[in-house]
Amino acid sequence: MPINPPTDFTPPPNLKRVRKGLVIINTGNGKGKTTAGFGMMIRAWGRGMNSMAVQFIKSEKSKYGEQLAAEKIGIEMIPSGRGFSWTSKDLSEDEALAQNGWRIAKEKISSGEYDVIMLDEITYPVTWGWINVDEVLDVIKNKPKMLNLIITGRDADPRLVDVADLVTEMQEIKHPYADQGITAQKGVEF
Ligand code: ATP
Ligand code: MG
Repeated sequence: MPINPPTDFTPPPNLKRVRKGLVIINTGNGKGKTTAGFGMMIRAWGRGMNSMAVQFIKSEKSKYGEQLAAEKIGIEMIPSGRGFSWTSKDLSEDEALAQNGWRIAKEKISSGEYDVIMLDEITYPVTWGWINVDEVLDVIKNKPKMLNLIITGRDADPRLVDVADLVTEMQEIKHPYADQGITAQKGVEF
């Protein structure tokens, strides 16, 4: 039984072996975007590679399981948001936080010190116009060649999808909250 995924791509006989860092997008409404990105960071960590993440929604105040894990093993995760509260009173403060996260992300990307950088939930501040998509495209274009850049969040801008090498859409089939009202649980959601 073949277990390879089906593909229409037939490599030409003279195909050169290419090595480059990938632009990876985990998008869609289903669960698993952030954890898949973090899973890849852990895989890279296992290889002795250097990775970090900027989290654009998660706040400094709340500790998520992935942040605690990252701390324990020495992966830097910088929270630069105000949590998953969509009813924030002072939106200009949220915008400033997102822009500060973006400033840090740009520094980290151009430093050339990393093999993997995750911009977790960056799609939201991009959608809200707080981070300019043209600027993100420019940073992607000029990123260090071997850097793998992971972007997560719902509704990824089609222009980002266009330039990405690997795009996965998480599709919600069932969610314990949507179907049964089960709220977020430790170790599963946070
Ligand atoms: P994870 O962090 O578990 O990988 P994710 O990054 O794909 O999930 P987000 O879109 O960032 O998910 O959503 C944050 C939280 O919202 C997750 O903990 C997820 O379980 C929860 N969530 C996702 N879909 C729904 C839904 N339909 N109803 C309620 N909560 C949801
Ligand atoms: Mg997420």
